[in-house]
Amino acid sequence: MLVVMKAHATEEQVRGVCEKIEKLGYRAHPMPGATRTAIGITGNKGEVEQGTLEEMPGVQEVIQVSKPYKLVSRDVKEENTLIRFPGSGATIGGMGLAIVAGPCAIESREQAFAVAARVHRAGAQFFRGGAYKPRTSPYSFQGLGEEALQILSEIRQQFGMRIITEAIDHDSLDLVDEYADVIQIGARNMQNFSLLKHAGRAKKPVLLKRGMSATLEEFLMAAEYILSEGNYNVILCERGVRTFADHTRNTLDLSVVPAVQRLSHLPILVDPSHGTGKRNKVTPLSRAAVAVGADGLLVEVHNKPDEALSDGPQSLFPDQFDELMKQVRQIAAVVGRSVPEIGVRETVAAK
Ligand code: PEP
Ligand code: MN
Repeated sequence: MLVVMKAHATEEQVRGVCEKIEKLGYRAHPMPGATRTAIGITGNKGEVEQGTLEEMPGVQEVIQVSKPYKLVSRDVKEENTLIRFPGSGATIGGMGLAIVAGPCAIESREQAFAVAARVHRAGAQFFRGGAYKPRTSPYSFQGLGEEALQILSEIRQQFGMRIITEAIDHDSLDLVDEYADVIQIGARNMQNFSLLKHAGRAKKPVLLKRGMSATLEEFLMAAEYILSEGNYNVILCERGVRTFADHTRNTLDLSVVPAVQRLSHLPILVDPSHGTGKRNKVTPLSRAAVAVGADGLLVEVHNKPDEALSDGPQSLFPDQFDELMKQVRQIAAVVGRSVPEIGVRETVAAK
């Protein structure tokens, strides 16, 4: 259910409606918009009696949201969600493209800094690198854990790039929330509802990757879990789904980008690295992702891909990433977007 406030409703009236909703045992989610505030109502004890709220001062109308996802829906918030990163000028969800780059996993300080220096120079505003790796085999490299988080925060300190790294359970999520700027929830955990709720109570924005066989509705419902706990800063990420095609690791579903944008106000990035699993396909699909309207890219880059402990075959050489950025800037210009360089080139002491 959604309470639409009048265009000139006062803050006090909005607060009054929120208090009433909470008193009735539901949760109120005020979403200020350009012309008016809407208040989403969530809870699992059935519908609120419509008349109760309709009569309150400042209320324009009370509407039933028929879609299963509420807070992620454009019905609740018409304008795109823009996520800002104070102190850096970097954003996700605006006209500027967010470029996230880095190795699959942080393997050592030396490796992480070597990659960071190159992706920073090429113009990435965000640095990625796994500290906790959800691997198919228990015998594969599982990540350096907190040591990697420390390395990542040194990278932020040195280069000013914001840090995105994956959490795989409650404990790692608390640590990632403390050290990083964005908490990644991976494809394998997209429907780990307990983890999603925990992320909904975290301070930092969450990058939610699409599950390997998730429908659009399942993807949006997973995001809804995070918003329903009060964390409205969610970034979606298409990373390919499993199909019968075997010429790539996954099938990158670029059609999901405009589909998401029609239904939801949340930003969506595209990850052509996991989406294809093949280095030679990453740049062409990055161009396509930008052309189709993605809000940014997530790209794996390694200084020595042949020696990488995970995802070497899909990791770009730094020179290839330079070329990717050049091409992406050209396509961005055609679709009226750009790769902002604000706060990227100078070294800022973050946090
Ligand atoms: C990753 O980003 O390194 C990763 C493990 O991604 P996904 O969850 O999409 O497989
Ligand atoms: Mn990877």
